[in-house]
Amino acid sequence: MTEAVAASVKPAAADWTAAVTTIRELAPTGRVLLICHVNPDGDALGSMLGFALGLRRLGVARLQATFPGEFEIPEPFAALPGLDLLVPEEQAWRDPDLVLVFDVAAESRLGGLADRLPAARATVVLDHHVSNSGFGAVNLVDGAAAATSVVVEELLGRLDVPLDVEIAECLYVALATDTGSFRFDMTTPQVHEMAARLIATGLRPGEISRRIFDSRPFGAMKLFADVLGRARLDPAAAGGHGLVWTYATLADLERHGQRPYVLDALIDPVRCVAEVDVSVVVKQQADGVWAVSMRSKGAVDVSAVAVALGGGGHRLAAGFTGHGTPDEIVSAVYGKLDNSLI
Ligand code: 5GP
Ligand code: MN
Repeated sequence: MTEAVAASVKPAAADWTAAVTTIRELAPTGRVLLICHVNPDGDALGSMLGFALGLRRLGVARLQATFPGEFEIPEPFAALPGLDLLVPEEQAWRDPDLVLVFDVAAESRLGGLADRLPAARATVVLDHHVSNSGFGAVNLVDGAAAATSVVVEELLGRLDVPLDVEIAECLYVALATDTGSFRFDMTTPQVHEMAARLIATGLRPGEISRRIFDSRPFGAMKLFADVLGRARLDPAAAGGHGLVWTYATLADLERHGQRPYVLDALIDPVRCVAEVDVSVVVKQQADGVWAVSMRSKGAVDVSAVAVALGGGGHRLAAGFTGHGTPDEIVSAVYGKLDNSLI
């Protein structure tokens, strides 16, 4: 974590001014490339597309939105407004004038798109991870914000872009995703006030929630049954706070005809286990390569565990890329738990 971002978890007035000035100077005539993190979730895609639509309202004509890795939009996000702006990473301009980065705490999350940052005339980073390394020329990092879309809404306001129902839907998906449907601790009065502003544009919260949280193929349900059926419980882990974990392989996905992103929702039933504080889901990406999702209820700082193992995230929700077997990866997590008790 750099001094600049660590010292001020909120953007300073000068950062907002720099972001507005940079965008007003470069966006109207330049090529603007918007990037969010690999395996994009609702906050990454919603924040990026909501801001892209805002720039379009301002008359910005040359816009591309992208993310690293396989160009696949998870089904829950397949109806988001602004998807027509998305391009695969190979098609993203190599020398854009302005790069805007969303929900990315570290450059490693930009994969093969990291080289677009030094190639651009300016870079503005919008994020809400306290661990953000401050890799942009301008960094709008609000560690107290429930989602990156909170920062996006503020910046759109400072650019005098009014919310319309399409922008609002993108920002609502982002806010609902990162607050767990307005259930987690960061669901502050300000979060509900923002949700009220978004809903007032005419969007349909019930329909959006059904699409992004409450809909999955039958095969995904059967896959979850297999993966949940092999979960292991250790009430003594983490100084007696307890840990539950499971893993899913590419063979599991194939057996049930499912795409990898369906596993993003699997942490939810696992983290509900009452006997534990920490939950871990280990998801195979390739031979010996696994994406690890961790959640805590408050006794363990899982972002400290993740950072120690090369990843990042938030105190109560974090992840990293693990290597080896699921057992080896969970052993590595065990090795970091005692130093991560809150
Ligand atoms: P999830 O478990 O939902 O994939 O991720 C939870 C949180 O951890 C998110 O804030 C996400 O940005 C962060 N995270 C997940 N995986 C990684 C990773 O491999 N590297 C980093 N730096 N952060 C991660
Ligand atoms: Mn986020």
